[in-house]
Amino acid sequence: MRCPMCGFADTHVIDSRETDDGIAIRRRRRCPHCNGRFTTYERVEVGLLMVVKKDGRREPFSRDKLSRNTLKALEKRPVPQHHVEAFLQGIEQKLFDLGKPEVSSQEIGQLVLEGLKELDPVAYVRFASVYMGLSDLKSLQQVIDQLMNQQKEQKAADTAPAEARSLGTGFSRT
Ligand SMILES: [Zn+2]
Repeated sequence: MRCPMCGFADTHVIDSRETDDGIAIRRRRRCPHCNGRFTTYERVEVGLLMVVKKDGRREPFSRDKLSRNTLKALEKRPVPQHHVEAFLQGIEQKLFDLGKPEVSSQEIGQLVLEGLKELDPVAYVRFASVYMGLSDLKSLQQVIDQLMNQQKEQKAADTAPAEARSLGTGFSRT
């Protein structure tokens, strides 16, 4: 690294250690030309999550794009705005928590899909039809059937006698 004081091209690291919080490396450098000393910090660059698209192209993760695609599915659905915001925040958090430099667009789609299932069944089906590329009615029907069955099981669990539930009927809310 170039010396900030005299511009000499080759400075030496004389000390290198982690900062107390462990999120950066602090280096003391010395310039052999002017004997000046300075400090640099090395940190992980945050906020740069790359998305690998189906065709292999990469683009930086965009909250806006995630939001647009999700809102399209939620159009005219009775889901409060703050639930949608929390939902998007949760998806973004999960993606960054993966700790990977890049994720595939399918991984993101899967996360959104799983989340929408809880949030709003109609949005879920809409999103599935676009994202999973359900071009024919039959596969769309399968998604809907699957959802209906799950809701039926849910209802059965909700109305089952307490003792049956505690014995474990196979239906569970958790
Ligand atoms: Zn220097």
